[in-house]
Amino acid sequence: MENYIAELMTLAQTCDCGNHHHRIPIEKISIGNSVYKELAAFASYKEFKHAVIIADENTYQAAGKSLSDSLEETGIRVSLSIITPDENNDVVADEISLVQALVEIPVETDVIIAVGAGTLHDIARFCSSKMKVPFISVPTAPSVDGFTSMGAPLIVRGVKTTFQMSAPIALFADLSILKASPRKMVAAGFGDMLAKYTSLSDWKFGHLVKGEPYCPLVAVITREALESCVENVEKIAASDEEGIQILIEALIKSGLAMLVFGQSHPASGGEHHLSHYWEMDFLKRKRPAVLHGAKVGVSTVLLAEVYKSQFLPLLSEPARLQSIQIENLQENIKEIMKVYREIPAPEHLKNLLMQTGGETMPEQLGIDEQLVAASLSSAHNLRNRYTALKFMNVAQKESRPIIQP
Ligand SMILES: [Zn+2]
Ligand SMILES: [Zn+2]
Repeated sequence: MENYIAELMTLAQTCDCGNHHHRIPIEKISIGNSVYKELAAFASYKEFKHAVIIADENTYQAAGKSLSDSLEETGIRVSLSIITPDENNDVVADEISLVQALVEIPVETDVIIAVGAGTLHDIARFCSSKMKVPFISVPTAPSVDGFTSMGAPLIVRGVKTTFQMSAPIALFADLSILKASPRKMVAAGFGDMLAKYTSLSDWKFGHLVKGEPYCPLVAVITREALESCVENVEKIAASDEEGIQILIEALIKSGLAMLVFGQSHPASGGEHHLSHYWEMDFLKRKRPAVLHGAKVGVSTVLLAEVYKSQFLPLLSEPARLQSIQIENLQENIKEIMKVYREIPAPEHLKNLLMQTGGETMPEQLGIDEQLVAASLSSAHNLRNRYTALKFMNVAQKESRPIIQP
C-alpha cells in the first residue's frame, strides 16, 4: 500500500481534470499480521513520547491492550480513553463522547491512536484536529471507507453533520483482528463499497448537468476498488485472510480517493443521503444505531430500483423531458443513460449483499414504508450535492414530483 500512495500522488500531480488535488498526508499504511510492532517502531521513529489510545471496551480488549503493550515496550507512555456507550449500548460520536475523550487525553499527548471502527475514528479525528495532535488509525473491522479520509460525521444537538477534520498520519490494520470482527461488520464494509455503483453514477450526473467538480482518475480508483470487492465477494463472505485483505484495501482506497479529491463525491451519492435521513430519524427517536454500511447497502439496492424503474424510463420519454428545464440535460442524455444503465440490477445487488450476510431490505433494519417514502422525497435536501434523486424531486415543473415511493 505504501507504493500505492506514491503512485496515486504521482497520478494526481499529473491529472489534468482541472481540480486541485490534495496531498496525501499519510506516511505509512501497513496491512498484515503483527503490524502493532510496526506501529510501535513507527511511533518511536517519529519520537512520540505520550500516546493516547481511543477505544471502546471491546476494541480495547481485542486490539488496544496488545498495542498498548507494544508501545510501552519501546518506551512510549500510553494513556487510555475508553469511550462509554450510550443508553442503547452504542458508542456514538456525539458531544458526550467527544468531551469524554477531550477530558481524558492528557495535555502532554503527542499522538492519538484510534483503535476501532468508524465511530471511534470520528472521535479521534475530532480530538486530533482540535488539539493539533497527529492521529494514527488502527481499524479493528473492515466496516467503513472513512478510515483514511478527513471527514468526521459528528452528532451535535441531535443532528449528524460531517465536518472536515484531519486524515491520519499512518494506518495499521492487523488482519488477524479484522478477520475476527463480527460478520455483520464485514457485510457493512461490503455494503459501503457496493454503494459506489450509485454514488459514481450520481457524481457523473451532477457533473454533466450541474457542473459539479469531477475527476476521471478519482472515479477510476473508486471503481477499481468497488470491482475488486465484487469480483471477490466469495472470499470476502468467507472472511478468509485474502478476502478481508481485499475488502480493507478497497475501503482504504476509496478513502484515499476522497482524500485526493478533497470531497466525498466519489463515495457518497443519493444512497448515502437516504442513509443519513434514516439515521437522523433513528436519532430523533433514540433508537439503537444501525451500522453505516448496513444502511448504505440497503439504500443502494433501493436507489438502484428507483433509478432503474423511474429515472431511466423518464430519460427515454422526450415529451416529459421537454418540460424539464435544466440546461445540460438534453445534450448529455445519452451519456447519462449509459451511466445509470451501468448500475447492476437491484436483484444482483441483493444477491451480492446476501452472500456476505448483509441485509437487503429497509424493513430488515427496522425502517418502515413511511420512513422509506419520506426519505425518497426529502433526503436530497440534506446535502447540496446534485444527484438523480434530487433531480427527480426538484427538476420537474409539474406539481407532481417524479418520484414514487
Ligand atoms: Zn459510506
Ligand atoms: Zn483529477
